[in-house]
Amino acid sequence: MGEYQTMTMSTRSGVLVVALAVAAGAFAQYPKATLDRILDEGKNHSQVNQILAFLTGEIGPRVTSSPNLAKAQTRIMDKLIGWGLKNVHLEQWGEFPLGWHRGDTQIGRMVEPFDEPFAFSTPCWAPGTQGPVRGVALRQPESAAEVNADPQKYRGVWIIMPRPVGMGGPSIAAPTELDTALDRAGIAGRVYSSGAEIIWAAGRGRDITWDTRPQRVLVTIRKSDYDRILRSLDRNRKVELEFGLENHVWKGPVRQYNVVADLPGWQYPEEQIIISAHLDSWDAPGSQGASDNGTGSSVMLEAIRILAKSNVRPRRTIRLVLWSGEEQGLLGSVAYVNKRRDSLDQIVAMFNDDGGSNYQGGLNLIPAWMPFFKPLEPIMNAAFPDTPLKFNEVSQVARGGGSDHVPFLNAKVPGFHWTETGKQVYRYVWHTQHDRIENTFPDYLRQSATNTALAAYMLATHPERLPRPKDDQWGAGGRRPGGGLGDDTFPGDHDHDHDHDHDHDH
Ligand SMILES: [Zn+2]
Repeated sequence: MGEYQTMTMSTRSGVLVVALAVAAGAFAQYPKATLDRILDEGKNHSQVNQILAFLTGEIGPRVTSSPNLAKAQTRIMDKLIGWGLKNVHLEQWGEFPLGWHRGDTQIGRMVEPFDEPFAFSTPCWAPGTQGPVRGVALRQPESAAEVNADPQKYRGVWIIMPRPVGMGGPSIAAPTELDTALDRAGIAGRVYSSGAEIIWAAGRGRDITWDTRPQRVLVTIRKSDYDRILRSLDRNRKVELEFGLENHVWKGPVRQYNVVADLPGWQYPEEQIIISAHLDSWDAPGSQGASDNGTGSSVMLEAIRILAKSNVRPRRTIRLVLWSGEEQGLLGSVAYVNKRRDSLDQIVAMFNDDGGSNYQGGLNLIPAWMPFFKPLEPIMNAAFPDTPLKFNEVSQVARGGGSDHVPFLNAKVPGFHWTETGKQVYRYVWHTQHDRIENTFPDYLRQSATNTALAAYMLATHPERLPRPKDDQWGAGGRRPGGGLGDDTFPGDHDHDHDHDHDHDH
């Protein structure tokens, strides 16, 4: 009991529980001093919010195929090497057919009848403007004939499009006759309503090619601003808008990578516990890619830092992977699993954090897994009493979802996606202009990083390896695009060609 004297009063009752658990041998297989070091490092010497500030402030949003993502990967590898991790490297998962960078000059505003800035976005990989472009706004005409009858009327005009676009953003379908007539007339671009006060970042990265990339200026604004334009037009008031969109798109291929780093095991080094999160994000103007998924990446980076700093000696290797291509269809994690078809048995389990800034509240576990995880509850809840952790017993491993754990689940490798609980309203920041560090919760991230460090350490150090579920304990395979069920790995469903109301976050 002695070494627990340092803990606060609230943890004393927890210590009682721990003591009982210890008495019960739940922790017998883990050196108590090591558990204490991990807890102390994670709770009292946390760097998770500094890591998030680095990702969101020094780097910014990190779209797949962007220089920001590459810069983040390079800087992170320097940190990992500095923390003493081994085998730190980039693993290429493929190439992206084009490059993208949203430049700092992003201007959007109404000039007349009111001088008012807009919240707005343009799809990734879509063209911008040559400097600020000011022009009158007109509703989209009814027909190509109407345009062709007086093309001069539409030169340099911002066309107000009739239908809101929602989360998926403007369609880049083949042009209609009307589209072509407007393009020929030399319009400035098209303005859509998002249909809400939220602006969603968008881009249809999956299957994109240089030839199928968006080639028109497409701007989305908030419903309230859009309605204001229409009200003014209905009152025959002159409406003038200005957009300056510094968008950089270039022909690829652009190589894409996952970041990998190891904390080698001493007894079964070939067996791995993977802790992971996706590093790529969207980049609607204003967004820093904080909660999707700067928080998950920071939690996993901090967890591996805590373990390295605590000098743990796991039996199995603890591997950190920061995926990319997640928002474009789980591209990095799909490739990682496909590349290891013949050695998936070496992956004992993978953890994924992609649920925003809320704290890790628990997991659904089949009975055989409970003894491996249950000991975590008293020790975590003693140290972090305000953010209770609880594991639920289930009869089958669910294989649905929409983040990087799914390719593992579909290959029948245990993939744990933490249930995140707390005050953050995820939809407010999910791919929106509000995805910024000020909308994250530092205390929750400290809990999550410490919890992940302990969970990985316990699975990597337990004398027995976590068993695979029996065949009848695997739920139905994750969804394929278009709704079919499948057992093999498949691209995720991340470009928004359907409603996202099902049970996952990403
Ligand atoms: Zn995500």
